[in-house]
Amino acid sequence: MCSVGDAFNIEIQALDAKWYKCGDCKNEFRCVSVKTKLECPSCHSSNVSKQYKE
Ligand SMILES: [Zn+2]
Repeated sequence: MCSVGDAFNIEIQALDAKWYKCGDCKNEFRCVSVKTKLECPSCHSSNVSKQYKE
């Protein structure tokens, strides 16, 4: 889960969320395409890459 805010988390359920993977801790998480900087919710690294899976 993306941890960008309480209300935002709820909206993610209905939006077109994509999978991302952290290059540092290998954490995989779902997040919608963001306008702001994308961060790993686990280690807060910005070293994340987009994944394509269901
Ligand atoms: Zn991470």
